[in-house]
Amino acid sequence: MELQSPDRQLRLAVDLVNTRTREPEKLIAPADLQSFLMAHGEPEPVAVGERDLVAVRAFRERLRPVFHAEPDEAAGLINALLEEYAVRPYLSNHDGTPWHVHVAKPDTSWVEWLAATTALGLATFAAGHGFEALGVCAAADCDRVFANAAERRPRRFCTPRCAGRTRVASYRARQS
Ligand SMILES: [Zn+2]
Repeated sequence: MELQSPDRQLRLAVDLVNTRTREPEKLIAPADLQSFLMAHGEPEPVAVGERDLVAVRAFRERLRPVFHAEPDEAAGLINALLEEYAVRPYLSNHDGTPWHVHVAKPDTSWVEWLAATTALGLATFAAGHGFEALGVCAAADCDRVFANAAERRPRRFCTPRCAGRTRVASYRARQS
């Protein structure tokens, strides 16, 4: 199991939360989790079972509040995850990979690896950009989360699509 660059760790956290929104559940079967992990750079073979899926879906519910909470509370949530799942960081270049930092136990379960990795990704990102850069889409019918690294450019929407839809809706509301 790779531990990835800070960007990829963060992407893993955001995308995992966004597998369950108001849209239909994206992690229905173990194969969905397998595809998710491979799409986020996990080298094959990625072996995922029903128990991994259940555990990851439960863990996902602990990650979303980080994006909703005030900074003090969000930091506490991340610290709790690090305390529970992360081990002392160590460098590895296993299997011919470039040197990278691991914070998950070697050969651990997918959920433990995901928890340690996404918590580190969120911690690093929040420390670098502030908790204001983590958010939930402001569109009325969307609850996707996002991480916005652009300095001094606050962001309210997950995508330009949600921003545009909201703009059109408020324009129509003013016209009527
Ligand atoms: Zn949105």
